[in-house]
Amino acid sequence: MALRTLQQVIPALETSDGAGVKLRRSIGQSPQARLDPFLMLDEFGTDDPQDYIAGFPSHPHRGFETVTYMLDGHMLHEDHLGNRGDLKSGDVQWMTAGRGIIHSEMSQQLEGRMRGFQLWINLPAAEKMKPAGYRDIPAASIPGAALPGGGRVKVIAGTLRLDGRKTPGPVQGLSTEPLYFDVELPAGEAFEQPLPPGHNAFLYACEGDVLVDGAAGARALPRRAAGIFSAGDSVRVTAGGEGARFILLAAKPLREPVVQYGPFVMNTREEIEQAIRDYQAGRLTG
Ligand code: MN
Repeated sequence: MALRTLQQVIPALETSDGAGVKLRRSIGQSPQARLDPFLMLDEFGTDDPQDYIAGFPSHPHRGFETVTYMLDGHMLHEDHLGNRGDLKSGDVQWMTAGRGIIHSEMSQQLEGRMRGFQLWINLPAAEKMKPAGYRDIPAASIPGAALPGGGRVKVIAGTLRLDGRKTPGPVQGLSTEPLYFDVELPAGEAFEQPLPPGHNAFLYACEGDVLVDGAAGARALPRRAAGIFSAGDSVRVTAGGEGARFILLAAKPLREPVVQYGPFVMNTREEIEQAIRDYQAGRLTG
């Protein structure tokens, strides 16, 4: 088994989006900072309501999937079709924008901590214009696995493999075959996981630092940075002295051209121009 080593580190940049929500963007902070098929990773995390209260009022998407994972807080999602999703701590919303969705994502709390992630995953050309769809995954439907040293893993997508046991997550069968794990480790505990060899993979720690093992020794990855792994069969990560919490993502690359204009991600410039025309004419969603 060849260990995947830490190949590139993309520190998150502080930015704001929506109506002024403060967030930290690692993957997707520039077109060069994507990791096929991952387009963007935003971490939001603040105790100050002024940083999140304005939310993300009505906006469109076309051509990819958005995955929102709430660690703390309460967010209401509503779309133009009348779909409504209420995300609370630990819940996940897996939205396939397909040919189009127009939605809002608004904080439902007036005070206290708001913390979580939004990940954008690209769709293959053949699926970019499929009808929009949702999977709302309550925290109780996300299986957890205990690690021998006191850590734990939550399996959102794909299948966790530990000591010959498989723990499948609720999201399976997508064409990019994503794995999405939320891992908590006490200080000094290691976590090792095989990943499909052809998948691109990265890790993002929201708490603590980690050491990523490799053939040439361990390399430190600080919190709030996306650590992109080399090719290989498995990853081995050890928590630093404060313990760590991180998300581990892997998916099959699409190897297709990416043309992005804000919330539209297509394969050609013509398709982007079409998306803008469709949105302006009220035809984005079909
Ligand atoms: Mn959105």
